Amino acid sequence: MFTARTTCSRRMSVAAPSSPHATATMKANRGVDTRPEQLLRTMLHARGLRYRVNLRLKVRDVAVRPDIVFTRRRVAVFVDGCFWHGCPEHMSWPKSNGEFWRAKIERTRQRDQEQDRVLREAGWVVVRVWEHEEVDQAMARIRKILENSPRLGVGETLNSQCLPHGRARRKQAS
Ligand SMILES: [Zn+2]
Repeated sequence: MFTARTTCSRRMSVAAPSSPHATATMKANRGVDTRPEQLLRTMLHARGLRYRVNLRLKVRDVAVRPDIVFTRRRVAVFVDGCFWHGCPEHMSWPKSNGEFWRAKIERTRQRDQEQDRVLREAGWVVVRVWEHEEVDQAMARIRKILENSPRLGVGETLNSQCLPHGRARRKQAS
């Protein structure tokens, strides 16, 4: 399971590495990547589901990069971090620079809504998973949606354009 709290405390309890060697050791000891997004990918893959990661889509001039994309079924999955996307259950506004964070998170939420809208208008099914969601529940939700989404045949269009990876800018947060 993953909850925002355990994820955060785990992250915070990791001390800063003191040397490159320490960094390498820490990486090796970390084992399976436990970030919610990665955990979900691993589980989807284990269930035999195949998807594209960080595929850049261009839908009606809006660039969208869902975390997980099922291209043939036109299902786009976003895993939203509780802080950055303003989860109503776990949002605690920072006390310092409150205005700044409020505006920033509000912009992120507006962008999320805009992306959902253009994707849906182009025939995509959008799934938003909160970082705090139980991975099993998220899996069940995604599998049900996939079952109800007809698979496109080869040559059928996506109503959207996949962009090459090359010029992709890294997302600051998610
Ligand atoms: Zn949350």
